[in-house]
Amino acid sequence: MKTYDVAVIGAGAFGAWTALHLARRGKSVILLEAYGPGHSRSSSGDESRIIRMGYGKDEIYTRWSQRSLVQWKELFAACGQKLFYETGVLWLVGADETRLNETRTTLKRCGVSFEDFDSTALQQKYPQIGLDGIRGAVLEPKSGVLLARRAVAATVARAVQLKVIYEHGLVEAPRTKSKLQALKTSSGEEIAAGQFVFACGAWLAKLFPEVVGPRLFVTRQEVFYFGLPAGDSRFAPPALPTFLFQNDESYGMPDIESRGLKIALDAHGVSVDPDSQSRVVSEESVRKMREYVARRFPALKDAPIAETRVCQYENSSNGDFLIDRHPEMENVWFVGGGSGHGFKHGPAVGEFVAAQLLDRAPTEPRFLLATKETIQHRAVY
Ligand SMILES: Cc1cc2nc3c(=O)[nH]c(=O)nc-3n(C[C@H](O)[C@H](O)[C@H](O)COP(=O)(O)OP(=O)(O)OC[C@H]3O[C@@H](n4cnc5c(N)ncnc54)[C@H](O)[C@@H]3O)c2cc1C
Repeated sequence: MKTYDVAVIGAGAFGAWTALHLARRGKSVILLEAYGPGHSRSSSGDESRIIRMGYGKDEIYTRWSQRSLVQWKELFAACGQKLFYETGVLWLVGADETRLNETRTTLKRCGVSFEDFDSTALQQKYPQIGLDGIRGAVLEPKSGVLLARRAVAATVARAVQLKVIYEHGLVEAPRTKSKLQALKTSSGEEIAAGQFVFACGAWLAKLFPEVVGPRLFVTRQEVFYFGLPAGDSRFAPPALPTFLFQNDESYGMPDIESRGLKIALDAHGVSVDPDSQSRVVSEESVRKMREYVARRFPALKDAPIAETRVCQYENSSNGDFLIDRHPEMENVWFVGGGSGHGFKHGPAVGEFVAAQLLDRAPTEPRFLLATKETIQHRAVY
């Protein structure tokens, strides 16, 4: 049985980047994945994810986004693929600008460029958006969209170039009460390592039902792609940026790679099992989304729904990540709790985890298991 420095379980955005950072630091790493990097049941598995810097007053995530965007761009340049679109990200708000003002302050402090819009300027620049109730907006011109599932595949491919062993396999939940010596896969293979990183997204709750289970809220999230009128460029970049309607709890992005207008509600759906939940959107959601699109993008009132996705958020109680050791197995780490906003942070998460494992770097109290509660009160968006 070969022994690795680190075994990483889960090749989503968090696990792939953790493996890559560990390999860059010269460690021997095995990356184990049950279904495949960025597969369609994982949280990292859709076509696209937003990368934005605005996080209200949660500066830690603004800074992590900044670090991550640099690293994503470097990776895409190295692998020669266009997997980032600088569409700009537009935050639209109604009467209450408290959070947007907090975002402005943080962006200024972190040196992120942005533009302010009042409702008149918005109407002039974005006549294709239904602006009822919208009072103002902030545009991050340098932010945009990552092509998610392919970005994960590219991260794993880069890790493999740096000698990470990638293996397709389902890892069984470890059951020891002290230091873990080896893992077992469902095919009976045993894998020994000095440290074990479980970056298992929504599956963390299933693997560790007692410790993580009550503290991870796995919710169904439905995503729609609306087909655009032929020859119409109003919904493609640069005419339309990526958008977040803060008060509606909705977000979406312009036509990228001709997939149409992507749009979804950010409000948490019902609780689901990531292995078995239906990946077909409900009729009720279709009806609601059609009404919503008619309000915010009136020209798309009768547009066909060209594609849909059903995914899951893996929410911690307040939206902060979970990056901590298992309370009994001292060399077992949890890395997850992406909470509907984690994808963009893959590079910074991987860097942070590598520093925890290799340098005994200081922990971040917000990420510790002890701060995760069993009742949800969302605070990070
Ligand atoms: C609809 C939707 C929209 C989102 N929008 C955004 C956005 O715009 N911007 C943003 O930054 N974030 C966004 N997010 C959040 C983001 O996608 C997630 O936080 C992030 O992808 C989580 O990555 P992960 O690696 O933790 O989990 P995952 O991508 O789920 O990866 C976990 C992996 O672990 C594997 N695994 C689990 N158990 C085992 C096992 N026992 N053995 C082997 N392998 C195992 C799984 O197969 C899976 O591939 C969104 C999420 C959803 C669902």
